[in-house]
Amino acid sequence: MVDFALTDTQRELRRVAHEFARNEIRPIASELDRQADPRQSFASDLYPRANALGFNLALIPEAYGGAGLSDLDFAIILEEVAWGDVGVALTYVGHWLALSPLIRGGSDDQRRRWLPQIAASPDRSFLAAICATEHGVAGDLTPREYLGSSTRDVGLEAQDFFTNYTLPRAEQREMTTQAIRDGDEYVINGTKRFITNGPVAGMYLCIATVDPSKPDALATAAFLVPAGAPGLSVGTIENKMGHRLSITSEIIFENVRVPAEDMLPGGAAALRYGLECSNTTVGALSVGLARAAYDEAMAYAKVRYKGGNRIIFHQAVGMMLADMAIAVKTARLLVHQSAWHNDHCAEPNTIAAMAKVYASDVAVKVTHDALQIFGGYGYMRDLPLEKWTRDARVTPIYDFTNEMLRANFILPALALGAGI
Ligand SMILES: Cc1cc2nc3c(=O)[nH]c(=O)nc-3n(C[C@H](O)[C@H](O)[C@H](O)COP(=O)(O)OP(=O)(O)OC[C@H]3O[C@@H](n4cnc5c(N)ncnc54)[C@H](O)[C@@H]3O)c2cc1C
Repeated sequence: MVDFALTDTQRELRRVAHEFARNEIRPIASELDRQADPRQSFASDLYPRANALGFNLALIPEAYGGAGLSDLDFAIILEEVAWGDVGVALTYVGHWLALSPLIRGGSDDQRRRWLPQIAASPDRSFLAAICATEHGVAGDLTPREYLGSSTRDVGLEAQDFFTNYTLPRAEQREMTTQAIRDGDEYVINGTKRFITNGPVAGMYLCIATVDPSKPDALATAAFLVPAGAPGLSVGTIENKMGHRLSITSEIIFENVRVPAEDMLPGGAAALRYGLECSNTTVGALSVGLARAAYDEAMAYAKVRYKGGNRIIFHQAVGMMLADMAIAVKTARLLVHQSAWHNDHCAEPNTIAAMAKVYASDVAVKVTHDALQIFGGYGYMRDLPLEKWTRDARVTPIYDFTNEMLRANFILPALALGAGI
């Protein structure tokens, strides 16, 4: 039997999260978004209060001090948090991206040593961070050195387009962060970029190659690293276009020593599984952002009088609103199905990737259309439409980009027989 009804508990979770978003997040979002210094945009005071509701414990099993919620429960909460502000929601997505591979793929010993400290954090401020992205490819230009196309022209020739084939993924060696075994420890060196919660995290899940002579697919591993580990430091704090209430930075590893027992078992495959399931969270966040924009556009269309009528009665506007609602609801259904799949099926699936791709594209389109419905007022900073449009733009980029998910996750699974 298919049952789309939320349980009483889920409705209560949604109510509590929505009230928190309305009363605690919305009132501060606009002002923090406008802070010029990205350090001032992070709402550090907010998290102890949000975590008192269990937001940073949600998916941790009760046996390790967590709330033991399901992925579906958490998708419901996250949609509401993102309705309040998507940067706050991203803070939790970054947290769960780091914890999901540990919860799903870590050994019992690792879970017992690492997870209870989150519930035990005295000021309830504990957040985790995943350190995967880097500007790697050894010897290549790093984007931070790239100062616009006029400063550098690599001079491709016409023939390059005939001879330049993609290196098969099974042979790619692009990871520059290395974790080299030394006795009972691994020594980590490398710089990770764009790390959500980088400057405020209590623990880091660092992705590195344990053997640079081997392709990444065979040598990638994940390490649990505590904040304050000697050699770990915070680099540049990023000044982002949107999602300004989340904090993003470089994390630098210089001879950081990690005990061998803090390497997650299962290598790249286990890690990939944990991260694939986490696509659901980015989908849920995107739905919340899109819904915020839809709600505002609907409210405005009912009161704005122009062209001889309230604008909702202009067919072009009315159709746009109906399409926005259909898109948000469809995205939510896919997100909830992917959460259900994460909760009930112990093997990787493409539904979470589909949910992330679809919901993030919906967030971009719906915020864009909502701004359109506000006309010139939507473009002004008095209203949140321009903020939401900036916020939405990154959702198809972060985590895995939508192009990567389509090309490397969804298409191969479909071609190899995954049904739809
Ligand atoms: C706000 C924000 C928060 C983030 N938080 C984190 C975090 O907490 N932890 C973390 O590790 N990272 C984080 N990231 C990084 C994010 O995951 C990456 O930016 C993203 O994976 C893309 O990588 P890239 O920026 O290196 O782009 P590139 O990989 O250089 O991609 C450039 C372009 O090439 C395309 N492309 C690249 N490879 C392929 C391929 N194989 N097939 C098809 N197209 C391809 C991409 O789709 C894109 O259009 C964050 C980024 C942002 C903006």
